[in-house]
Amino acid sequence: MEFYSGDINQLITELAALPGIGKKSAERMAFHILNLPLERVKRLSGAILKAKENARYCSECCTLTDAETCPVCSNPKRDHKTIMVVENPRDLAAYEKTGKFEGVYHVLHGAISPMNGIGPSDIKLKELIARLEGDVEEVIIATNSSLEGETTAMYISKLIKPAGIKVTRIASGVPVGGDLEYIDEVTLLRALEGRTEI
Ligand code: ZN
Repeated sequence: MEFYSGDINQLITELAALPGIGKKSAERMAFHILNLPLERVKRLSGAILKAKENARYCSECCTLTDAETCPVCSNPKRDHKTIMVVENPRDLAAYEKTGKFEGVYHVLHGAISPMNGIGPSDIKLKELIARLEGDVEEVIIATNSSLEGETTAMYISKLIKPAGIKVTRIASGVPVGGDLEYIDEVTLLRALEGRTEI
């Protein structure tokens, strides 16, 4: 990287630190940015800054949003008695893109992973339990089918079953170890429709 000056090196280093961006892509992106009109670059950096400064957890489902409650939770037409539990906001987006789920979500921001030292108190579980004191008929557990996702599903099921709430798990149409965000809509819907009580 010694070919470039300090500022350009810095830009490439920052871009290369993003997920899925290798050094080559980072270089390509950096030079693309440098060739853009100044206005465009200001808009880009402004958008990053604004999103970061305003990002907060939805007070109901814990997804990332920039308001007190996210668009799903604040929509009165959604079925607030059916809660789908997902690992992260990208999983929520994947199900929203199908346009077929009418309930609301709960975003855990991770999954229980004893191997990585992530316990129940490190994800948004307390917040889920607090929501169950309201009028909830079904909790659909749509965590990933990885070891962590399954561990989390079992944990949640054991935790909330005694409350008499129906707990279901999405069908295993989702490939083992598969991240929900990479799965096509048809498979997601099939997994949702084929959910079984656990
Ligand atoms: Zn929400």
